[in-house]
Amino acid sequence: MSCGNPEGAVEGEEKEEVLMPTSRPVRRVDKAICNRCKKAKTSFIFRQGAYCSPCYEISLRSRFIRQLHPPLRPGAVKSTLTLYRPVVQSGQALIAVSGGAGSVAMLDMLMSRGYISRSDGAATNRTKGQKEAVWDKATVVYVEFASVTGRDERTEDIRKLSEDRGLGFIGLKVEDVYDAGLVSWLGGSERNADTSGVKVNFQQPNLPVSQEPTTSNTTPVERLQSLLASLPPASRPSLLSHILDHLLTLAALTLPNVSQLLLGETATRLAQRVISGTALGRGWTLPLELSNSFTLPDSQIVRMKPMKEISVKEAALWCRIHGLETVNYRGWDDVGPKGKEGRAKGGAASLEALTEQFIAGLSTTHPSTVSTINRTGDKLVFPGDTSGPICPLCEMPTEPDAMRWKARTALTSLTDPHSSLGSPTIAGIHTGDSTHDNFAPTLCYACLTTLSGGATDRTTGDGMVNLPPWVGQRVSTSQRMVAREQMREEIADFLLATEEE
Ligand SMILES: [Zn+2]
Ligand SMILES: [Zn+2]
Repeated sequence: MSCGNPEGAVEGEEKEEVLMPTSRPVRRVDKAICNRCKKAKTSFIFRQGAYCSPCYEISLRSRFIRQLHPPLRPGAVKSTLTLYRPVVQSGQALIAVSGGAGSVAMLDMLMSRGYISRSDGAATNRTKGQKEAVWDKATVVYVEFASVTGRDERTEDIRKLSEDRGLGFIGLKVEDVYDAGLVSWLGGSERNADTSGVKVNFQQPNLPVSQEPTTSNTTPVERLQSLLASLPPASRPSLLSHILDHLLTLAALTLPNVSQLLLGETATRLAQRVISGTALGRGWTLPLELSNSFTLPDSQIVRMKPMKEISVKEAALWCRIHGLETVNYRGWDDVGPKGKEGRAKGGAASLEALTEQFIAGLSTTHPSTVSTINRTGDKLVFPGDTSGPICPLCEMPTEPDAMRWKARTALTSLTDPHSSLGSPTIAGIHTGDSTHDNFAPTLCYACLTTLSGGATDRTTGDGMVNLPPWVGQRVSTSQRMVAREQMREEIADFLLATEEE
């Protein structure tokens, strides 16, 4: 009997509970001795096992190169992908360092294993066990958020960290998104006209935009702060994350000869991205965001996440062993003025913060939480086409008809029950209006949700807020495409009639 009850038991009699026999004996592991070398005393116990200090570093490094090597050796045989060191890359590496454990540990691992050439130009001495560098040059890029989070500035700390290792350093500020001279400061040439005068009204569900001449009486910080203040607190971390992505991408595209952009996103951060991204409606592009190797649109630059298999705790321990100082709290949840909105359990204002707390809490009792979520995330496949339309805010491919989809799932405003006139609506979104001067039809579903999450009276005056210039630029392009599509639809009958004649 499969249930394990003894044969011949008389029906009706109280049966003795019999446990299912275990098919495999539980393997007892002595956690006092390192599981890897079986000799040294254990220093750290993790989910994967107990390690002495040298074996712990080997374990972390092997997981690091498992993610680092394959994108640098495209076309190599799969079994040899991680075994051999990649050849010297044609361009330089741009390393994004936030000062958190993930990026600082990544930088240290790259430097300690000689992936980047020494700045003094010393030749590699193979007889001394030195390995050929993979990049001849690398630059560290750091984005400072102090002006909006109110926390201490860390630009000088990261500059010192980089320059001590002989790397170039670029320090950006979050408000630089409003700086018209940023591209030329980074060494590029201005490609487009000034579009810093595009304003949007968050109070309307269609998010109407208008072109206005730039007013020079506000500083970039003031513009960014008023943009953040006009959004509900739950949407602000999303916006900051898009600004960070944009600044890093812009630096990669503008700085000379960049071939790879390296991000220190840990397994923990990626697991948070899976959960919060799904909850925020970002599921469609999630596979691209999680991928270790993503080619930036309109370029040959590959964005990589080599820390993908290492948790933030493991990275923090690496930094501690090597005496590296890190700051892991971003403070994005406390940005902007506090509204009347209630905060969730634990004081979280956004889904990102709530997910962070949830995963950290669950990991204490279920240590496999992060790897289980990431294994699920790795199975996702992007169903669309990366060459299609791009969302102006997150700069990722957008799924068509996000407005219609949102109208089916959410009630964004109520129509006046006493009025029988007016344009037709689908659950509050006006569909009869022209979409020429609206921001909403150009956005992806997740960004539409982020920006229209709270169309309340937070803004002052006319309710118009300056959009960051990159968004304004893309809105103009998207609107031109939407207008062209609409024109084609309008004249479609005539075109067919001409063909038939
Ligand atoms: Zn060991
Ligand atoms: Zn978007």
